[in-house]
Amino acid sequence: MKVLSLTAFLTGWVKRCDLNCSAVTYLANEFDIIAKYFAPLVGPEGLSLKDDAAVITPKLGRDLVVTKDLLVEGRHFFKGADPERLAKKVLGVNLSDLAAKGAEPEHYFLGLVLPENISTDWLSSFSSGLEACQKEFGFTLAGGDTTATTGPLTISVTIMGTLPTGTMIKRSGAVVGDGLYVTGTLGDAALGLRCLTENIDTYPELIGRYHEPQPRLGVGIALRSLASACADVSDGLVADAGHVCTASGVGATIQVADLPLSLEAQSFLDDIPSSIDQVYSGGDDYELVFTAPPNKEGFLKEVAVKTGVSITKIGVIEGLDGIRLVDQAGNLVHVNSEGYKHFQ
Ligand code: ADP
Ligand code: MG
Repeated sequence: MKVLSLTAFLTGWVKRCDLNCSAVTYLANEFDIIAKYFAPLVGPEGLSLKDDAAVITPKLGRDLVVTKDLLVEGRHFFKGADPERLAKKVLGVNLSDLAAKGAEPEHYFLGLVLPENISTDWLSSFSSGLEACQKEFGFTLAGGDTTATTGPLTISVTIMGTLPTGTMIKRSGAVVGDGLYVTGTLGDAALGLRCLTENIDTYPELIGRYHEPQPRLGVGIALRSLASACADVSDGLVADAGHVCTASGVGATIQVADLPLSLEAQSFLDDIPSSIDQVYSGGDDYELVFTAPPNKEGFLKEVAVKTGVSITKIGVIEGLDGIRLVDQAGNLVHVNSEGYKHFQ
């Protein structure tokens, strides 16, 4: 008897706590948010976000390539970051993973942990950014989850792409004698972040590269038949080339003088030469670092012309483990930092 009343008391307490914790208002808001800002972004597979799950019919002869990235306020982006740019960044970093695998984006799932006082202006700009990116790269929202928090704004995207069965470019295929290549230019995003934190306003393109990564989807698709291994440069060149080499059981020597630089990065380095380590260790560039056998070099030049994205040979794959950076005289360059790590 005594036990029963205690159970009844506890059950009542839990229910009251649910109500007191503003669950009722919060739930109503959650459905309004989903219907107003996210339902307009879904494809047919998302069932207008009115069901428990999306249903996707796999395409015959194609593999699904699935990846997730998580962005946390204060760690991956500044508090108060422009919501439209943030939306493009969170999709851009996920698209970049698909690009590195040679996949074409199809659908994504959006996990939102929103501060309780999030404004409708924020939601409206954020969903505009999502829509613009969806239109640019041709993919749709399929579902997600939304919750409130007293902690930092956190955004998680799971993205799904497809490619012809068996053609995904893995990290593990590099062999001794392959060339090591990168797309575009390196160091821009890390130098852009430095401009933001040190209030330097003379390099708008570097800052733009930090805010809005350009996923190299076109290059990735073309590399399916050319690259032996590939990763995107999210943690820094040394770290990500290192991931490719470790997965492949090889090593590499990289020529520092061959690292491709944008005009703004070059002029930043002319001012502050010690910043060179940002070029090989700084993260967030979202270029592709890949390996290919020497007989593919001519095809790679064609890919660069066709996609309008430069491709630069920066080194060679060797049997000796690890990444070695060398200067023009062949001397080893000391690497201060090997890229960003969350848990030191
Ligand atoms: P559950 O109660 O099972 O967690 P929800 O009520 O959270 O489901 O979600 C209802 C629908 O809204 C589902 O289709 C879900 O995918 C979608 N949804 C919820 N949050 C988001 C979001 N942030 N972006 C896109 N779709 C969402
Ligand atoms: Mg449900």
